[in-house]
Amino acid sequence: MTRDVPVAPAPSPAGPSSTARSEALFARARAVTPGGVNSPVRAFRSVGGVPRFIASAHGAYLTDVDGARYIDYIGSWGPMILGHDHPAVREAVAHALSGGTSFGAPSAREVELAELVTRLTGTDKVRFTSSGTEATMSALRLARGFTGRKFIVKFRGNYHGHADGLLVEAGSGLMTNADGPLGAAAPSSAGVPPEYAALTLVTEYNDPAALDALMQERGAEIAAVIFEPVVGNAGVLVPTPDFVDALHRVKDAGALLIADEVMTGFRLSLSGATGLLGLEPDLSCWGKIIGGGLPVGAYGGRAEIMEFVSPQGPVYQAGTLSGNPLAMAAGLATLRTLEADPDIYARLDAYTARLAAGLQDAAHAAGVPISVNRIGSMLTAFHQGAPHGSVGSYAQAAGSDTAGFAAWFQGMLARGVYWAPSQFESIFVSAAHTDAELSTTLDAAHTAYTAAAGAAKGATS
Ligand SMILES: *Cc1c(COP(=O)(O)O)cnc(C)c1O
Repeated sequence: MTRDVPVAPAPSPAGPSSTARSEALFARARAVTPGGVNSPVRAFRSVGGVPRFIASAHGAYLTDVDGARYIDYIGSWGPMILGHDHPAVREAVAHALSGGTSFGAPSAREVELAELVTRLTGTDKVRFTSSGTEATMSALRLARGFTGRKFIVKFRGNYHGHADGLLVEAGSGLMTNADGPLGAAAPSSAGVPPEYAALTLVTEYNDPAALDALMQERGAEIAAVIFEPVVGNAGVLVPTPDFVDALHRVKDAGALLIADEVMTGFRLSLSGATGLLGLEPDLSCWGKIIGGGLPVGAYGGRAEIMEFVSPQGPVYQAGTLSGNPLAMAAGLATLRTLEADPDIYARLDAYTARLAAGLQDAAHAAGVPISVNRIGSMLTAFHQGAPHGSVGSYAQAAGSDTAGFAAWFQGMLARGVYWAPSQFESIFVSAAHTDAELSTTLDAAHTAYTAAAGAAKGATS
């Protein structure tokens, strides 16, 4: 059997550093798609410039349609922990493909992936969906069905996908009305009725006293508290031990604790962030890595709760493509590869630790204040002078110099490093990143910090 050899796109006629083809595609895309993209952060709105249209991805690299090659720190926003086009995943998907792409009837791979996920995470039962959004939305419906309660609690700056009741985070323009009930918040998207938003109470991450006070006042009405066990979606925020204790106390009020591990599951350890941090949620949500780059989500937990899900129980949830054979094959190959390589998380941690130290040195040398939060292979370098590791809340993260970040991001991109195009996102390191990528990245960072410092000085003088 011959395998198609991936063909690199021909260099753009305008030269290797041109973005002509991306610009042309972006113009066509804007004519037929809102903002020209199918998910907002891809549009580069907060950093400016033209989004790069990607032609192919292999290992630690993305290649765009103009022929430029980038060291990739997005990893499709988390799923590509093994790097792109990993042979085990490619072969598993190719094998599944030859047997048909969707059945609408159960198949063995769904059972195998469910067995693997439940065993590795210490969960009784799991249900697959096709996205993380579906997983969190369904877990909340289940929590409401199980408890018979209406309200849910989330934390400011935590992202759980785009279901109506979760697009509530009360950013700076939407802060809690001082006269309103504790935790009341406004929707953060048009199209979310205030009546839905009113069922979502919002409080601060890493503020155990605020969570305790909210549970004290409203605990008997609260079905669930949903949280990111390590936040990636406000930049990386790591929970304090006191906050972890307060999360466990919500169970005393009869509320379910829902860990949204869509980003952190199989990213921070084989048992996720909850395993790493000693968290014991009632329900967990997964996505991203468990699909190995294909569309998958999942939610799971104790049998007595999961048995409320249809067809066994009264809480309805379904999906035409749920448990899709290609997606299950990619997830199985990814999780099996992770499990077979016990050192993989230590290697990811070591690379990312050296990346953090190198960024700190480069920024310090250039006189650019940064504050690095890192855990495992997740990292955010906030452009602000707080001590490293000390940014713990959305409000603190929001104090970053986003213009300074944007200038630095563009400097990195120009030097072939594709960082997350927002100050308030994590980057993701993959197992395909090696010393060669690390030193190229740090050389680029040094130059980009120096240039960004020069530009900032020019702007203020
Ligand atoms: C990405 C993400 C989601 C949403 O998953 P989608 O597959 O994009 O719907 C939910 N929660 C967290 C923590 C995420 O990082």
